[in-house]
Amino acid sequence: MADPFELDDAPAPDRGVPALDAPYLAGLNGAQRAAVEALDGPVLVLAGAGTGKTRVLTTRLVHLLATGRAWPSQILAVTFTNKAAREMRERVAARIGGAVEGLWLGTFHALSARILRRHAELAGLKASFTILDTDDQTRLLKQLLQAENVDTSRWPARQLLAIVQRWKDRGLAPGQVPAGEAGDFAGGRAVDLYRAYQARLIALNAVDFGDLMLHCLTLFMANPGVLADYQRQFKYILVDEYQDTNVAQYLWLRLLAQGHRNICCVGDDDQSIYGWRGAEVGNILRFEKDFPGAHIVRLEQNYRSTGHILAAATGLIAHNSGRLGKTLWTDRAGGHPVVVRGVWDGEAEARLVGETVEQFKAAGESLSEMAVLVRAGFQTREFEERFITLGLAYRVVGGARFYERQEIRDAVAYLRVVAQPDDDLAFERIVNLPRRGIGNVALQILHRLARAESISLHAAGARLIETDEIKPAARRPLAGLLRDFARWRAEMAATGPAELTERILDESGYTGMWQADRSPEAPGRLENLKELTRALDEFENLAGFLEHVSLVMENDAQANGDMISIMTLHSAKGLEFDTVFLPGWEEGLFPHQRALDESGLAGLEEERRLAHVGLTRARQRAIVSSAANRRIHNQWQSALPSRFIDELPSECLERTADTGLYSGGGNWRSGGATGTASVSDAMAFPYGGPRAGWRGRTIDIQAVASPARAPAGGFHVGDRVFHQKFGYGSIKAVDVDRLEIVFEKAGPKRVLDSFVERA
Ligand code: ATP
Ligand code: MG
Repeated sequence: MADPFELDDAPAPDRGVPALDAPYLAGLNGAQRAAVEALDGPVLVLAGAGTGKTRVLTTRLVHLLATGRAWPSQILAVTFTNKAAREMRERVAARIGGAVEGLWLGTFHALSARILRRHAELAGLKASFTILDTDDQTRLLKQLLQAENVDTSRWPARQLLAIVQRWKDRGLAPGQVPAGEAGDFAGGRAVDLYRAYQARLIALNAVDFGDLMLHCLTLFMANPGVLADYQRQFKYILVDEYQDTNVAQYLWLRLLAQGHRNICCVGDDDQSIYGWRGAEVGNILRFEKDFPGAHIVRLEQNYRSTGHILAAATGLIAHNSGRLGKTLWTDRAGGHPVVVRGVWDGEAEARLVGETVEQFKAAGESLSEMAVLVRAGFQTREFEERFITLGLAYRVVGGARFYERQEIRDAVAYLRVVAQPDDDLAFERIVNLPRRGIGNVALQILHRLARAESISLHAAGARLIETDEIKPAARRPLAGLLRDFARWRAEMAATGPAELTERILDESGYTGMWQADRSPEAPGRLENLKELTRALDEFENLAGFLEHVSLVMENDAQANGDMISIMTLHSAKGLEFDTVFLPGWEEGLFPHQRALDESGLAGLEEERRLAHVGLTRARQRAIVSSAANRRIHNQWQSALPSRFIDELPSECLERTADTGLYSGGGNWRSGGATGTASVSDAMAFPYGGPRAGWRGRTIDIQAVASPARAPAGGFHVGDRVFHQKFGYGSIKAVDVDRLEIVFEKAGPKRVLDSFVERA
């Protein structure tokens, strides 16, 4: 469809008669159809999971285009993820019969970036501005803190980042932060630092994610003409997952909708799961106030799940007090009961899920119709490894695979350098991580020597610390690090790989770095590191483990095809699968202890909504499991089944088998899956082969640890030489490639022969 309009208040294309009996409307129920057809004025669809909210929104979009109510560029449609935007675009294209150009369809971030690029200069930016990631932001803040003489060990940059993000989520520019909210960060200087950070970003022609919204808001307020143009342009606004919008997003929508007031939001207060990220479920509750006369549509028929699953989810969420409450029904009575499995430990859980998946697959079900939804990122590892062993294709949605995560790569890099000092990539990754003062200049010198002598960075380091080539401020930590590596290498033979790893991560300061980190991701990263040591426990030695890691990493070649999904409950929002596995329903893990500690009852209720989101992803089968033991940090901890399990109405459950498990063996009964499990079994080697499989593969560490010293460069005592940094001098002593030189200006120094030339 040609859409000649960009910013103009274009007259809508006139397609004549609305498509009342259009095929895309045919399958809708009465309430859904009313929501699709109520095109004029504000509409709120407030309805439970699986009632067709997203379907209503997509159909509405099709309807607007098909009836000629709007050009594509006059429709603003907001989805929660890029994936959801893609799906909606495809569905619309399928209905319309061809790709639709010009739609404003995407996430809040994508849409506001598009607006901001058009008016960058009004925000003091150039249209080519860069969008920084969290790492860049943290680095920038750290520089700033240092420049302001703030003690970053006491007031880490990441903590400031979290504070600033929170303000941005609330749409607060530095001048708008209410007095008294500065907190105690750096003695109450957070707002000033926030202002300095914003100035720095502008100077760099950069924005962070929060800025995308914030700059848009600021420029709309400061430039009523620009705002009015957009208000005229967007005749229709559609918003999915409205319950999870934060204040900045809400203000942005409210401003844009003031023109035509044709805004349609769909959401479910029982699925609000981003409170911890600043989402305000209150936005949905005050819709009627903001848009008087709003048409409120309730959808009550659930088309997704069977009766048992819906009953379980409804029974669970009824335990929350702060909710609107709604009726949900399905005509798909009965179905499989929700299965609740008791298992011995996480490994037995992964094994059982693997077996079940294989059985369903053998029965003809496709892997892409199955998902494992976890509460915490670290939980994915056991499932990933199990699926690899079984040869089941899987994808980790909305996050990296376990061994690809930043902190796991960092930790593995330490281990690689211990096992293989010449591993330059690994060495470079961690030589200054955590920051220990080995800066770029020192690294360049290391590189130069390594290149010139064809030796590894590690070997170059070992030589350089004997000299004055690099400044003491960098030399000392480098020498310390190399000493640490030598010690860890020596300890390798007598220490189990898990214990050794823990020691390395502690002694190197790596664990401490994340402990001091106040960002929301830090606790998850620490959990992942613990999970890593747990994984190492399965191996006889480090070399075996490292080989395993490289094999696992190789396994991720295919990107498409039939695959089971592993993801967190948070990323599962809006999705559906025939079979959903819900592992780890244990007190402390789910509900997560942190949510309870930090937010009390509100935290518990958000966790319960998350459980509700999990259950309502399932069409046919929901399989909950709970392990009696979790091995955390090399210690067995017994776990209690989640309170959420007790809250599920018993008439829609089938509890299986704990029988026998705790006494060392027994039969499972569960939704058709049978098998045996015992304590010893549960603790067996999980990677498809006995431990002995890794034996005899130890790399000869000593052989690679000390590269041969280069021969002396032919210098003699008394030679006059020139050094880039120290100038002219004469050689006083020669020890293979190390020279002692008295420089004319710099005095006596120890340097390497490759750094000097004959004068
Ligand atoms: P969630 O709250 O989880 O985001 P939702 O309310 O957005 O759910 P949809 O994803 O739109 O629900 O719909 C759930 C399922 O029900 C989809 O498979 C959809 O195609 C189907 N569905 C929705 N409405 C109907 C209908 N009228 N007839 C048949 N199937 C329907
Ligand atoms: Mg939806």
